Amino acid sequence: MSPSNEEAEARLKARKPIPKPKPAYLPVAGSPLAVDQDLYRAIAQAPRILLEEFVLPIRSGRAWRAPAGSIVRISTPEGPQVGDLNLWNAHNPREHFWAARTKQLHASHVSTYDRLWSNLPYMRPMATIIGDSLSWYGVDETGGRVHDLLGTGCDGYISSVLTAGEVTDEDENEYGGKEDGRNYYDFHCRSNLTRAVLPFGLNESDVHDVINIFQVTGLDEHGRYFMNPCPAQKGDYIEFLAEQDLLMALSTCPGGDLSLWGFGAASEKEMIKCCRPLQVQIFRIGDQHLLQRGGWRPAVPAPYRGMHGMFVPEGEYQATK
Ligand code: ZN
Repeated sequence: MSPSNEEAEARLKARKPIPKPKPAYLPVAGSPLAVDQDLYRAIAQAPRILLEEFVLPIRSGRAWRAPAGSIVRISTPEGPQVGDLNLWNAHNPREHFWAARTKQLHASHVSTYDRLWSNLPYMRPMATIIGDSLSWYGVDETGGRVHDLLGTGCDGYISSVLTAGEVTDEDENEYGGKEDGRNYYDFHCRSNLTRAVLPFGLNESDVHDVINIFQVTGLDEHGRYFMNPCPAQKGDYIEFLAEQDLLMALSTCPGGDLSLWGFGAASEKEMIKCCRPLQVQIFRIGDQHLLQRGGWRPAVPAPYRGMHGMFVPEGEYQATK
């Protein structure tokens, strides 16, 4: 039950003015949250050697490995398109990207020199953004910002909940199953990421909350999540330095550039008109000593030992006394 209007008004009136808050985790120079910008600028500008590249077709997913110290560039070769990205430690899939903590440490939307952090008990950078051709976007007139950590990827589960009872006719249902006459679309980002990681020995339970790259989102005056059309043009990009050996997976969102988004079979058909591919390129830095000279090291896990106040079990204690 909520308080009555009178009670609410009285409590609001009694509330003391709150000074402008300061960010809880401000990455000031010298903080472990802040990078050495001179070094990362030099890394971004150094000559590169291409290790691998591919174009990810619309409404699909693919995974790849990126060794520590390599650069991953994701771009929009044909124009606006949002992408859903997941990251894992290449040697241990239990360590993966943690969107919520990254949002807390940096911002709801990330850009150059922000880092993508891993989950507990690892708590270390997985990648650092070293280039972002959409950094100019800032905050638009609706409060939208680009490279979203507020939301997560699209998936067939919420879609089936929201469209429950929707019956499509046979011609319309060209993507998903027809088990009970409803539309079960199989090419949401979660499904695309699931298929992408299968060849690497991972499965759906390894897919986690994404970073929505090239995606503009915000919260409206009521705190409700919204999405605006993707501002990318042909050739826009975001670049990451791998801070450890990574397995990464990307989905070309079936919502395309989000100019036509909606839920249900009709929307899925309509949105294909605004779907475009994404390009992935993995480089190694030409000058292998640049990282060493600059003092760069692969990220190490947080030093906390994870004892959580627990003691050695009594039997063990007695045995060693
Ligand atoms: Zn999606």
